[in-house]
Amino acid sequence: MGINIAIDGPAGAGKSTIAKMVSAEMGYIYVDTGALYRTVALYITENNIPDEDIKKSLENADVSLKFINGAQRVFLGDRDVSDFIRTPEISMAASRTSAIPAVREYLFETQQKIARENNVIMDGRDIGTVVLPNADVKIFLTASAEERANRRFKELSEKPNCPPYEEILEDIKKRDFQDMNRETSPLKQADDAILVDTTKLNLKESADEIARIIREKI
Ligand code: C5P
Repeated sequence: MGINIAIDGPAGAGKSTIAKMVSAEMGYIYVDTGALYRTVALYITENNIPDEDIKKSLENADVSLKFINGAQRVFLGDRDVSDFIRTPEISMAASRTSAIPAVREYLFETQQKIARENNVIMDGRDIGTVVLPNADVKIFLTASAEERANRRFKELSEKPNCPPYEEILEDIKKRDFQDMNRETSPLKQADDAILVDTTKLNLKESADEIARIIREKI
């Protein structure tokens, strides 16, 4: 059994950037579980699978994670889809399809297996509550919706076709609502998770705070 660190929180709180920084520093594997849900959403979207057929068709979906030079890549069959899954459409599709119990069941063992075999920092929505309830450290990372939209806007404004700030904020609020109000594995802070609010912290300050919490516990 590896050392398991769970980081949960809403979209855009900085989980992946911060978890990547801390895991590189500590020599842990960083696992981005959102990428798995995004890959399943891509599979469902590309194949136009109606909700009632999802459970059956996932038997043929071959979603996997590989670590190449320490960096996670996600695969659909032998196709590396890591770069295709980062669109606003797939974000929304992932938020919708991740509420379907068959999708969560399908990805459950993949996540647990990586955590059994490695020292991991795993980020997602239900890692501390459902996937790794016995994690050594649990962190709930959040920031105000406005600040999260601000950060996403800055990131996207360097790329073509950047949506307006208001649209990004609306998307974030909608995803928060969907993720927090679904019946299966909703986004919520585990009772034993430590809350870190990064609204007023920059990336380095946030990463330092998380590294400090982990060191104190391990
Ligand atoms: O973390 P990311 O924003 O890439 O995740 C995309 C979507 O996948 C989330 O909005 C959420 O609905 C879903 N997700 C989930 N459980 C996880 C990770 C992601 O339901 N552990």
